[in-house]
Amino acid sequence: MNKDLEQLVKLSNFDKNIVSFEPKIENEQAKLKTFTKAVEKLNKTKEQIISNIEDYKNKLELSNETLEELSQKIDSIKDKHKIAKNEKEVKALIVEDEIAQEQIAVLNEDIDKLETAITTKTEELEEITKELQEEEEAVSEIKESVTKNIAELEQNKDKLFEEKSILISIVDPKVLTFYEKIKRWAKETAVVPVKKQACYGCHMKLTDKFYSQFKISNEIMTCPHCGRIIYKDDSEEA
Ligand SMILES: [Zn+2]
Repeated sequence: MNKDLEQLVKLSNFDKNIVSFEPKIENEQAKLKTFTKAVEKLNKTKEQIISNIEDYKNKLELSNETLEELSQKIDSIKDKHKIAKNEKEVKALIVEDEIAQEQIAVLNEDIDKLETAITTKTEELEEITKELQEEEEAVSEIKESVTKNIAELEQNKDKLFEEKSILISIVDPKVLTFYEKIKRWAKETAVVPVKKQACYGCHMKLTDKFYSQFKISNEIMTCPHCGRIIYKDDSEEA
């Protein structure tokens, strides 16, 4: 193969490989994000449960205070009973007592409900705390491997850049400019092999005449259809 062309194939491969690092790095970051998102979600749920429990506990405290007040009221009604002067006063006290008893019954029901809710939410809190701990452990593991993988990828990328710059320093500047011009639109497919008499960039078939010229030529040739630099695919010959 023509020396210039050989260098261009190598250069194009470098560019292709360098570009392929970005999605790999992004992929690693996305992996980590999935886990950190799960942790964030669990943390939010946990906060919500804690706030629910606090809310229930406050309500319970209030209910217990009211209950205390009502039982004091019933005691005072009993005391008033002892000193009631007439039937009218007694009747009024009975009614007052009934109302207080009813309020106590309603309140006791509320207290039961609140206590049950607190128990349920506390169990939920325990579960989610456990789940969160597991997820956080997973995140720190993933973080470690992701950081390591990214560092490795960056290192390999840097190495490729280094090798590429060495290659660039020895490529004929004219050939390099020619390549850069095509690369501007063809990106990483500026240099493509010919397979089964077709350009591997645009997938158009080369004419028999062009193909026979191409096979014996030692010059840098471009695809007559798309303008990409083409080279003979060694694997096809073998
Ligand atoms: Zn082509």
